[in-house]
Amino acid sequence: MSSYAPANTVKYCDFCSGIMSAETTTCPHCLALQTGAGGPGESDKLRFPAFMLAIIFGVFGAHRFYVGKTGSAIVQLCTLGGLGIWAMVDCIIIASGGFTDGNGKRIIRWT
Ligand SMILES: [Zn+2]
Repeated sequence: MSSYAPANTVKYCDFCSGIMSAETTTCPHCLALQTGAGGPGESDKLRFPAFMLAIIFGVFGAHRFYVGKTGSAIVQLCTLGGLGIWAMVDCIIIASGGFTDGNGKRIIRWT
């Protein structure tokens, strides 16, 4: 019904300058992921290498070393990725975009 949107509920695409809701992370016009959307909560680490490391070397905690979670990476290394279960769970979390780096920032970008 309402066609009027207060200024603080919209933002503009980083790439095509299209208008969108402030909560949106992907531009509805050009489908670009908004770099500003995650703000300080978005990691500069990438999902694709983290995911591949988790798949191939997950039991050695390689993906956790990659994202800077050294402490839990060493635990994972010593327990063989929680006998594979912990590593497998990490794979799923990384793929879903819920994984965070050593600074607690979410790893959102694939490449
Ligand atoms: Zn756009």
